[in-house]
Amino acid sequence: MFDLSGKRVFVAGHRGMVGSAVVRRLASENCDVLTAGRAELDLMDQAAVRGWMAREKPEVVVVAAAKVGGILANNTYPADFLYNNLMIEANLIQASHAVDVGKLLFLGSSCIYPKFAPQPITEDALLTGPLEETNEWYAIAKIAGIKLCEAYRVQHGVDYISGMPTNLYGPGDNYNLETSHVMPALIRKVHNAKKIGGTVEVWGTGTPRREFMHADDCADACVHLLKNYSGREHVNIGFGSDVSILELTHLVMEVVGYEGEIVHDLSKPDGTPRKLMDSSRLHALGWTPRIALKEGIADAYRHFLTEVG
Ligand code: GDP
Repeated sequence: MFDLSGKRVFVAGHRGMVGSAVVRRLASENCDVLTAGRAELDLMDQAAVRGWMAREKPEVVVVAAAKVGGILANNTYPADFLYNNLMIEANLIQASHAVDVGKLLFLGSSCIYPKFAPQPITEDALLTGPLEETNEWYAIAKIAGIKLCEAYRVQHGVDYISGMPTNLYGPGDNYNLETSHVMPALIRKVHNAKKIGGTVEVWGTGTPRREFMHADDCADACVHLLKNYSGREHVNIGFGSDVSILELTHLVMEVVGYEGEIVHDLSKPDGTPRKLMDSSRLHALGWTPRIALKEGIADAYRHFLTEVG
């Protein structure tokens, strides 16, 4: 077991939903959490990252920094999704090795898997088929990150591991309807529809199935992996069950307390038909999620009301 107590732990991306949840979770670990704001450190600037790491000397690094976005954002900004993410992860992983970081956790996403991977998706489905084209830019960058951790482990013997969370939601999510993922979009849309008594617009057919996990559960899994995992292969961080987008819409409506009509915008893409991960590797390490979907949505909605209103 890896001991975090007394260690200097750098959480890259601490303003994001996952990074901020990891920072909250590390508060109970008796370690020294390091963060760097965007104005202080541009993670796409190699010299800046090397300089910062050399000065701050972290002993553990969590790579929760990334350019992220939903199905439309990925389609609209392919260059940003590929270039920014490649730069961020390459700079952080290389600089970590240069300053002798002993343990690094790289975070990816379930979209690294082939579009038609057998469900639930096991870790060994990676690179066995073509990717979903709506998010292949982000996926290619994240696959490169996993492989970079593996390459540093193979060549330099460092304990750099990767975790692949499923679709996450929770405090600090992005509620911009153009760039967000489906959960925050539905929370915002149902909330707005309730205010004016209007319809709730769902993109696509509503039949795609997705798995959702609260960001606090993900953060807890990240700390568990830091402490208990040191393998070469990446580890899925999943909830264990999925729902259709239509079922999710009904759940969000229940939580928000609105029973209006649902309409579909069929000009928007459905994306991959199903994305449910097999998380037995993580479960075998002694971790399971604690936050049920409805309870998690209620928590996210409470945060939405204070963050966005
Ligand atoms: P994905 O998991 O990478 O496909 O990304 P998203 O979370 O953006 O989308 C998941 C599914 O939800 C897709 O089938 C979308 O078409 C559907 N969806 C329905 N309504 C919305 C919405 O308002 N915003 C987004 N982003 N997706 C929506």
